[in-house]
This record gives sequence, structure tokens and C-alpha cells, in this order.
Amino acid sequence: MRRFMKPLIELYPLLNNPQKLVVTMHQKPDADAMGSALGLYHFLLQLGHEVVVISPTNWAGFLNWMPGADKMIDFEKDTEKATAQVELAQFIFCLDFNTLSRTKRMEECLNTAKGIRVLIDHHQEPQTEKFAYGKSDTGKSSTAEMVFDFMIESGKEEYISQEVSQCLYAGVMTDTGSFRFPSTTASVHRMVAYLKEKGLDHSRIHEALFDNFSESRLRFIGHVLLNRMEVFFEYNTALITVPQSDLLKYEIKTGDTEGLVNYPLSIEGIRLVAIVIDRGEERKWSFRSKGNFDVNVFARKYFNGGGHKNAAGGGSKDNLESTVQHFKVAMRENKEQLSTYQF
Ligand code: 5GP
Ligand code: MN
Repeated sequence: MRRFMKPLIELYPLLNNPQKLVVTMHQKPDADAMGSALGLYHFLLQLGHEVVVISPTNWAGFLNWMPGADKMIDFEKDTEKATAQVELAQFIFCLDFNTLSRTKRMEECLNTAKGIRVLIDHHQEPQTEKFAYGKSDTGKSSTAEMVFDFMIESGKEEYISQEVSQCLYAGVMTDTGSFRFPSTTASVHRMVAYLKEKGLDHSRIHEALFDNFSESRLRFIGHVLLNRMEVFFEYNTALITVPQSDLLKYEIKTGDTEGLVNYPLSIEGIRLVAIVIDRGEERKWSFRSKGNFDVNVFARKYFNGGGHKNAAGGGSKDNLESTVQHFKVAMRENKEQLSTYQF
């Protein structure tokens, strides 16, 4: 088993001649996964490569404004076409995930591909043996920031076009919670200053991402906060449980539930929020924390998941009631850590 991936710097010379490239990301891509993939796509196109972006699944409608989104292939929808592209690719860039299982049904196809896999990611515990080249840095705010560094370090920054800029900004802005999480370093602000100097119109991107939903989605949020949220003050914890019937009633689409997990964090004292959504095929968990409570560890231990210290996710095949019971047991097991909150 190879433990170390070769550094990205060794990749630059291999990209001097036109190649067939695939760029992919985790299933149900968020703005960071999709923004970093499409940002890299536009950059590599300008270098003369043939580039195809493949998403393992569909994505949220509010990401469709990203330049190049209309050319992306959805692996689940167009499996044959996507598989053929992966098989042809000389290099496969894997962005914003670090274990192949995060690509769901695309996992096998990626695993058996002849092309060289390249990792650019900021999550914990990378499956390094699966990638020949790569960078894994949990200190980075976003994959978009890492893709930006990749472009600058290649010495080809003249190819950071408006398209590239818009996609990367969407990734870094959303993954830093609009520049408020602790991961928002000076280098994040330097990157944004660089993009602004190149002419980036950032407010259009905030509008496209945050002011583009249906009336029904807002009413759904009202309903969920009123009727589906439990607060356990003795554990500094809030839990939101969303049955499938709510998703159907309010016509909830991919992406409509993103950000819901953050609302209870605005309650004084709350340091852990969990939300579970019954998606039919599985119960999907999201966790957010403030301070030292490590939800990456929590999600790994109890819900077959992972992520970052303050933002993680997981899943369960149990029914909604059982998985919620499992959460409550887990919460009690962590009482000491949860109840000794220090600002
Ligand atoms: P979200 O709650 O927004 O879906 O995800 C929060 C973070 O946890 C993201 O960085 C995401 O990539 C990661 N994550 C979400 N679900 C899973 C999962 O099932 N397994 C792992 N390993 N990571 C996840
Ligand atoms: Mn990310």
C-alpha cells in the first residue's frame, strides 16, 4: 500500500501536452465540489486539454448558473456515456472527497479506471493508496481554495478567467459559511482580493446561491423549525427530524435542505446540531458543531460517516425512528463533552 501521494507540482509537466481529462467530485455536489470542479474545467480547457466533468449524481438547481454546469454529465442519468469517458481519461481529478465510496455508484468505475487518479481535497483521513498524485490538506477552507493554489503554483495564472473566478468564489464562500468559520484564513481573504482585482462580481454569486429558491422551500423551513425541531438544553444540542412525507408535501428538491442544519446554531448555548432526513433509500444525517465538539469523530463512530471537525455527515439504513433513537443514545454517551461548553 502506497502511503504517500506524489505532490501536485510533479503533475504540471505531464499536463504540458493535450490530454483527455475527467474531473469529478462527491455525490450530490455542493457549491465547493461543483465550483472547484468547474473552475478547474475552465482552466484545463484553456490549456488545450479535452475535459469532461462528471457528477456521480444529480445536483441542486441553484448551482445551474455556474458556467459549464450545462455540459456536466450525471453518472446516474448517463451511466454509459460517463463510464466511457472515465475509461478514456488519462487523468482523473477527484475533488472535494477522499474515499471513492463518496461517489456512490461511480465507485467501481473509478476504482478500475486505467487513468491516473489525482486528489485535491480538504477532508480528514484520505484513502491515499487510491491516488497517484494529490494534495490533502485539512487546514484549507475549501477545495476551491486548493484548486486556486494549484492554478497559481502552475505559473499559469493568466488562465484564471471570469468563469474560473466565479466557480472558485462560490466554493470558498459557501465552505467558509460566507467567511465566518474559523477556516477563513488570511490566505482565503487574499484569494478573494485577487479575484476581485480581476473583476469578480461577488454579489451576483451570493444572489444566485441564496436568493433563488421556491416559496414552498421557505414554508418548508418554517414548518420544520416549528414542528420538527427538538432542543435538549442539558446537552446543548438540537435535533431536527424530517420524515419523507414532508419532502413530498413541500416538493423538496435536491439542495433545498442545504443550510437547514445551521438554523438551530443561532440559539444561545447550542453547540451541536443534528438533522436527519428520510430520503427513502437511506436516512441522511448532517452534523454541525461549535468549538471543540468533533462531529467528524461523532459521525464516524455512530453513523458510518465523516467530514470535518465542525461539519460532518453520515447515513443509516435503519428506519427514521430507530436512527433517531440511536442518535439520542449517542448524545447521552457524550453528555460530559456536550454539557461542559466553554466559549
Ligand atoms: P453536509 O452535512 O453538508 O452534507 O456535509 C458536511 C461535511 O461532511 C461535508 O464536508 C461532506 O463532504 C461530509 N459528509 C457528508 N456526508 C458524509 C458521509 O456520509 N460520509 C463522509 N465520509 N463524509 C460526509
Ligand atoms: Mn468542501
